[in-house]
Amino acid sequence: MAQYETHTPAQLPERIRHYIDGEFVDSADGATFDVLNPVTNETYIQASAGKTADIDRAVAVAQRTFREGTWSQSLPRQRSKVLHRIADLVESRGDRLAELESFDTGLPITQALGQARRAAENFRFFADLIVAQADDTYKVPGRQINYVNRKPIGVAGLITPWNTPFMLESWKLGPALATGNSVVLKPAEFTPLSAGLWAGIFEEAGLPRGVFNLVNGIGEEAGDALVKHPEVPLISFTGESSTGQLIFANSAPHLKGLSMELGGKSPAIVFADADLEAAVNATIFGVFSLNGERCTAGSRILVERSVYDEFVERYAAQAERVKVGLPHEPETEVGALVHPEHFDKVMSYVEKGKSEGRLVAGGRRPEGYETGNFIAPTVFADVAPEASIFQEEIFGPVVAITAFDTEAEALELANNTKYGLAAYVWTNDLKRSHNFAQAVEAGMVWLNSNNVRDLRTPFGGVKASGLGHEGGYRSIDFYTDQQAVHINLGEVHNPVFGKAD
Ligand code: NAD
Repeated sequence: MAQYETHTPAQLPERIRHYIDGEFVDSADGATFDVLNPVTNETYIQASAGKTADIDRAVAVAQRTFREGTWSQSLPRQRSKVLHRIADLVESRGDRLAELESFDTGLPITQALGQARRAAENFRFFADLIVAQADDTYKVPGRQINYVNRKPIGVAGLITPWNTPFMLESWKLGPALATGNSVVLKPAEFTPLSAGLWAGIFEEAGLPRGVFNLVNGIGEEAGDALVKHPEVPLISFTGESSTGQLIFANSAPHLKGLSMELGGKSPAIVFADADLEAAVNATIFGVFSLNGERCTAGSRILVERSVYDEFVERYAAQAERVKVGLPHEPETEVGALVHPEHFDKVMSYVEKGKSEGRLVAGGRRPEGYETGNFIAPTVFADVAPEASIFQEEIFGPVVAITAFDTEAEALELANNTKYGLAAYVWTNDLKRSHNFAQAVEAGMVWLNSNNVRDLRTPFGGVKASGLGHEGGYRSIDFYTDQQAVHINLGEVHNPVFGKAD
C-alpha cells in the first residue's frame, strides 16, 4: 500500500475506451489492460485493448471519411477555423488536461500545464500555416508551366510514447488534420488517459465525425496492426529507436511513408569561458525536467577540465536541492517515473553507474518515498565514454559528467554515441560555438540555451535518433503528396513513332 495521500482527479471515466466513428467503444473481443497510478503502482482503471479487428474498423471509418471529402477536400480556411477552435478548447481545458496528464504520467503538475499550452500552440501554428501555404509554380518560357498540386495522403497512422502524451499527440494530429488527412491514433499503453479528451474537443470544434479515430492497446498488438494495415500509407512514430527499427521493417512490404522521432543521448558541452551559472541552471533543467523522461534531455555533460571540479561541485549540490515530490504538488520539480517497469530500468542504470562513475548526487530513492516510482536526481562524474551510462538512453533523472581538454576532444566525445538528437553548447566564443554546432552530429543544436523550440524550425534527429524531420513546412510535406502537373504551352514536342509515309 502507498504511504502517501495521492490525488485522484474527479470524474474519471469508468473505463478508457476506443473512439471510432464518433463513438466511444470497447474492443471487439472485450479485452482490456491495466493502467497504473505511478505514485502507488496500483491499477486505477482498465483500458480497452485494441487488436487487429479494432484497428481494421478504425481504418475503414477513417478511409470512408477521407473518400467522402467533407474534411479532406474542404478549404484550408475551413480547416484552419476548426484547428483554431481546437486550440482554444485545449487552452480552456488546460487545467483539467494537466491534472489528468500529471496523474497518469507522474509528471509534475506545473510541467504538465506547460505541455497543455504547447499542445494548443501546435494546433494554432498549423492552423496559421495551412492558410499561408503556397506551392511552387515553374515556368519554362514559351514551353511549359508546371505546378505542384498538394494533396492529403489518406489515413495517417499516429503512434505516440508516454513521456508527454497529449503534447506529442498534438504534434502529429495538428499537421495531419491541417492537411486534410483522416487519422488513427494509437497512444502509449502506459498513459492512455488524456488521449480520450481529444474526442470531446474535436467534436465541439466541428471536426467531422470519423476523421479522428483512437484505438488504445499494447504496441505489439494495436500498434503492430496499424503499422501492418495495407490501407494506412503513412506512419508517424515517436518512441524508442529499437521500436522504430521494427516499425521500419514492418512497413517495408507496403513501402509506407515514415517519420520517426526516436531516442537520444544528447550532450551538453560546457567550455571554460561559458557563463557557468547559466550553464549549471540550464543543464540541471535539461536533464531533470519532465522527470528526465525527455527525448532531448542533455543526459551527458562534457565539461572543460579547467572548470570541471567547480562545475561538478556546483552541479551536484544543486541536483541534491531539486525538489522531488508528489506530481500534483505545485512545488514538485521531479515527480514519479511513469511505470514500475521503467523505474526498474532506470534503477538498473543507477546501480551500474555506481561502478562506471563517481556518484556525486542521488543514486537512491528520495527520503520519505519508499514506494512508487521515485528516484532522487542522480549525478555521476568521471564517466568514461565506453560506460553504459554514457552510451545508452536511460530516460530518467540520471546524468553522466565527463571532462575534456580540447575542443577536438569535446567534439569526439559529443559524437561518440549511436544517437544524434540534440546538442547544447555553452561558450562565449562566437567562432567556436558556430564551428562546433556545425560539426556536432545532432539534428538540433542550442547555443547558450536550453531546449527552446521555434515551431518553424526542423525537428528531428540524425543517426539512431530519427528518420526525416517534422516541424513547420516539413510536417506539411510529410502529410501530403506533392504531385507535379505539367502544362504544355507551345508546340507538342515529341518524336513521332510509326509515322505514316
Ligand atoms: P516505445 O517505443 O516503447 O513505444 C512508443 C509507442 O510505440 C507506444 O505507443 C507503443 O505502444 C508503440 N509500439 C511499441 N511496439 C510497437 C510495435 N511493434 N509496432 C507498433 N507500435 C509499437 O517508446 P516509449 O517507451 O513509449 O517512449 C520512450 C521513447 O520515446 C524514448 O526512447 C524517447 O527518447 C523517445 N521519444 C522521442 C522523441 C523525439 O521526438 N525524438 C520524443 C519523445 C520520446
